[in-house]
Amino acid sequence: MLSLLSLLLAILPAHCSYYYTQGQDWNGTCQNGINQSPVDISTGSFPDTPYTEKILLSKDNIVQGRYQLNPHLDFYAEYTVLAARTVEFTNANVVVDLGNGGGSLVFMSENEDVKIYEALQMHFHSPAEHTFDGESRHYDLELHIVHRRYNVLDSEVTRLQNATGNTTEVDESHNKLLAVLAIFFDVEKGGNVTNEFIEDLNLKNLSGNVTHMKTQTLPELKVHLNKIISNFNKEKLYHYDGSLTTPPCSQTVAWLVVDDPQPITREQLKVFQEYWQNNQNFSGGNGNNRKTQPVGDRVIYKHANHDKWEHTVYLQGYSLRASGCLIMTLILSLLF
Ligand SMILES: [Zn+2]
Repeated sequence: MLSLLSLLLAILPAHCSYYYTQGQDWNGTCQNGINQSPVDISTGSFPDTPYTEKILLSKDNIVQGRYQLNPHLDFYAEYTVLAARTVEFTNANVVVDLGNGGGSLVFMSENEDVKIYEALQMHFHSPAEHTFDGESRHYDLELHIVHRRYNVLDSEVTRLQNATGNTTEVDESHNKLLAVLAIFFDVEKGGNVTNEFIEDLNLKNLSGNVTHMKTQTLPELKVHLNKIISNFNKEKLYHYDGSLTTPPCSQTVAWLVVDDPQPITREQLKVFQEYWQNNQNFSGGNGNNRKTQPVGDRVIYKHANHDKWEHTVYLQGYSLRASGCLIMTLILSLLF
């Protein structure tokens, strides 16, 4: 178990990330990988109707559908309210520990493949890393909730660790070691309104009180992630296979990206901007966001509303809505 943990730590975001060129000078897989993150998502490129089973079964069509509206893609997450958790302050991030009971995520991929992930940690990027309809428009803040696949084998972690520098290695879809849920905050698009989740974190005096490169417990910290995920619009959920956005940029992440910016006040945002984006001592005034990477041959999936498409799916021989919810309820009842 210890070896598994140390291997996992080795492939999680490195402590020495710097952003002077927004990651363009990082090497290895970061430079040569073909499934890198973040990406820009073209929201207008999705078809009006979801893929049907018939089309999904045809390999040619899967490749053809770079932007796919998919009625199977979904997730369900449940997080515990945490207090006074350990926070690791690196030079480039504030990493809040969510391990050992922080929560679970059940991810149903585009092919109805169900995988369970457990929460590991969360951290922020300011400005946001993923963009929509143009690489230049970044939301103010992006939260990454990092999860590790439940019951993953040591041998698989080793394989992925060893594959870090191999550019020809493309991990199989639906078999990702990590799942990262990306949630956005934006003063303009989400509204200049106090965000309770951010307020609960009590990070107000962050820049004045923390020592970089140190792990400490913040007694006032409270993490209430359910407050965020109960708010957003799942019709804006996108999924693609990608990588860590910091070295070694391992291509082992199932990304779940929700283009539904949450409210945040300018005052709340200031804490993060003073730490990175507006901090001349940090990467010359750049934020801690990596530049968007080419999508290449990857397919980007978008969640199709169950209610709206239930009829269509039913016509294919079964009801996704019933099966999906039932599976998730069963799995979560086993976990908690
Ligand atoms: Zn991140």
